[in-house]
Amino acid sequence: MNARTTRTTVITGIGSLVTNDPGQGAGPLGLLTDAAVVVDGGTVAWVGPAADAPAADERFDAEGRALLPGFVDSHAHLVFAGDRTAEFNARMSGQSYTAGGIRTTVAATRAASDAELDANLARFVREAVRQGTTTIECKSGYGLTVEDEARALRIAAAHTPETTYLGAHVVAPEYAEDPAGYVDLVTGEMLDACAPHARWVDVFCEQGAFDGEQARAILTAGIERGLTPRVHANQLSYGPGVQLAVELGAASADHCTHLTDEDVAALAGSRTVATLLPGAEFSTRAEYPSGRRLLDAGAVVALSTDCNPGSSFTSSMAFCIAVAVREMGMTPDEAVWAATAGGARALRRTDVGVVAPGARADLLLLDAPSHVHLAYRPGVPLTAAVWRAGVREV
Ligand SMILES: [Zn+2]
Repeated sequence: MNARTTRTTVITGIGSLVTNDPGQGAGPLGLLTDAAVVVDGGTVAWVGPAADAPAADERFDAEGRALLPGFVDSHAHLVFAGDRTAEFNARMSGQSYTAGGIRTTVAATRAASDAELDANLARFVREAVRQGTTTIECKSGYGLTVEDEARALRIAAAHTPETTYLGAHVVAPEYAEDPAGYVDLVTGEMLDACAPHARWVDVFCEQGAFDGEQARAILTAGIERGLTPRVHANQLSYGPGVQLAVELGAASADHCTHLTDEDVAALAGSRTVATLLPGAEFSTRAEYPSGRRLLDAGAVVALSTDCNPGSSFTSSMAFCIAVAVREMGMTPDEAVWAATAGGARALRRTDVGVVAPGARADLLLLDAPSHVHLAYRPGVPLTAAVWRAGVREV
């Protein structure tokens, strides 16, 4: 074992510390001022006032800056090849977004080697870490054959434990005339090949992708194989996705852009997290979901990037926070909670998204005195340091 992981470090001089543990500090963010954190190996060992901090092997002076849990990005599509610059450019020049553009990436991804896909994914994970993301979910969905979906998940599993089987992203081009045949494949042979490499099962429940009955069949088959569901729901139009997610006990319903009052009530009365993905609305010039409406109803809200080459090619959680505050009615505190603790809830993790004894030492130090600067200073790179499981990454 690396000697470094057995040493303790005290991070002291923290001007403002977001713990997300109301038992440790003020408000839902559990805010502490003039704080210190002790890291022992990969774990947080102690949190409290700097004046009371115990001795440690090493000392890091935060110099009055803000520390928070590393971002938990609970929704990303990062196993792919190619890009869609031309499509984005065309859309920003007046054309509209439909689900069909995914097939462009499918063709490029199928043509790529394992090494290319792995290198692309490693680059995006690194890009996310540099911006403070310490946990990232990763979906398949650009292979759409048994071999290509299983390969995407194998590659993803080498980079994150949060892998999601999304064979039901769109109907594979080979099955354009036989969508029922594709659902049979997704719930049969493809699921058999993918389940060993996946924690979650997901489906794009949307006009032009999969309807409510198809989505139910796909999620139910995944559940029977031990996967936990999450759903791309109500992104482009009203539909059955959110209700289905709640009914099947999904960890999250993602997008939630077009919600009826019944959808909002269903989320508020469930364990299913409403994951909002403002990068998608930004990048498709679409109407934003209302974070305010969901929060006021009592739903748990997460923020995530939806990082993908078609509809949201950003890996910046800080950008998502800024947009959520400016466009979705969320306060800076709510948006920062949603990007950290909310993401952890959406992945049903209790060891991340929080700075508390026993939690993973996933920490983001900002070049700013407060977490509010994530929204107050949009577009400004504020990462001063990042620790992932106690290891300094940035
Ligand atoms: Zn997505």
